[in-house]
Amino acid sequence: MKLVFATNNLNKIKEIQALIPSKIELLTLSDIGCTEDIPETSPTIEGNAIQKVQYVKQHYGYDCFADDTGLEVDILGGRPGVYSARYAGAAKDPETNMNKLLKELTGKNDRNAHFKTVIALEINGKLETFTGICRGNIAHQKKGEGGFGYDPIFTPHTYDKTFAELPLSEKNKISHRGKAMQRLINYFNH
Ligand code: IMP
Repeated sequence: MKLVFATNNLNKIKEIQALIPSKIELLTLSDIGCTEDIPETSPTIEGNAIQKVQYVKQHYGYDCFADDTGLEVDILGGRPGVYSARYAGAAKDPETNMNKLLKELTGKNDRNAHFKTVIALEINGKLETFTGICRGNIAHQKKGEGGFGYDPIFTPHTYDKTFAELPLSEKNKISHRGKAMQRLINYFNH
């Protein structure tokens, strides 16, 4: 059966394809001719993931899964959350996003935060969601060159390095996205 993963990241597709039953053939958005930006207008991370899979089903007819992620900071009441990508504006620039967050947390001792990924899956008329959470702290300054997004200012619990200082293989083992993907893979293999 064909199943769309609502991404154009071929590395992500290859990684997941290797871990699920071979009777499921994963397709990217470009494989199905979906080149437009899929609307992400929900006020929740879960809602955006669901919106993406329903868009693909409605417009292209394929069963689909999609992920959506946000960084939720405790003392900010969960912000930036669903608005993580455009926290400092529509340019979606990671540097200005991090600068804004560091400024907001200046002088704050409670720096607890977590990344949350929700994967929505629509398959055979059923809708499932899989959540992965990675808890940690917002660092006082940016550290490390790896990763993307907020990685240079996020230190996962029990580590003394930011995500940007950890090898990708190490990050994937403990990350929000890694955990949510593992739940999805378990679902396919059960
Ligand atoms: P998306 O839903 O995967 O597009 O993620 C939304 C935003 O959250 C991204 O633009 C990043 O700023 C941030 N983000 C998502 N995943 C990560 C991560 O693993 N590390 C750091 N930032 C992330």
